[in-house]
Amino acid sequence: MASQTVRGTPGRLAPQREQAACRVDPDAFFPMPYTPKTTVTAKGLCRRCPLRLTCATWVAGHPQDEGVYAAMTPKERDGLAELIAAADGDVALVLRRFDDREALSTAHRIWQHSVTRPEAEQIVGAADLARARRVRAYAPDLVEAVVAGEVSLRDAAAQAAPKPRPKRAGDLPVDAREVAA
Ligand code: SF4
Repeated sequence: MASQTVRGTPGRLAPQREQAACRVDPDAFFPMPYTPKTTVTAKGLCRRCPLRLTCATWVAGHPQDEGVYAAMTPKERDGLAELIAAADGDVALVLRRFDDREALSTAHRIWQHSVTRPEAEQIVGAADLARARRVRAYAPDLVEAVVAGEVSLRDAAAQAAPKPRPKRAGDLPVDAREVAA
């Protein structure tokens, strides 16, 4: 990455900087080290920030060695410009795929006890976390397709449904029990 680190509020680099959510708590965007726990606040603010698309476009063209930008750590931004080019400049699609992957990995981290559920909801949002948990529980075969960007998390969650419990003889009406016997 090019060395163009600007310590401070990432949002001040965006054109509409007055709306940047990171102006509230700039230090949260430069944790050390970058872990799921240390980036909870920054990622949550980025995902609710009205400038996220602009910010992602900007940082793809102006690589930064430090700081959380557009809900991505420096490592997570590796290859961002190439991903945007491969998506024909569709930054929203690139961010959606990134968010889908992060929702799945964050759901897994709850199970590993490396983040709490409230932290996970702050990182990726309650709705995406619920979708990710549903896919992991009921359609694990779709996880790979979501990670590869072939299926959206939303579509995968719509396909993931709890399997109906097989009927036992005791659950059947009396007449059906006779047939089952
Ligand atoms: S997306 Fe994040 S880093 Fe970018 S301006 Fe908004 S809060 Fe700041």
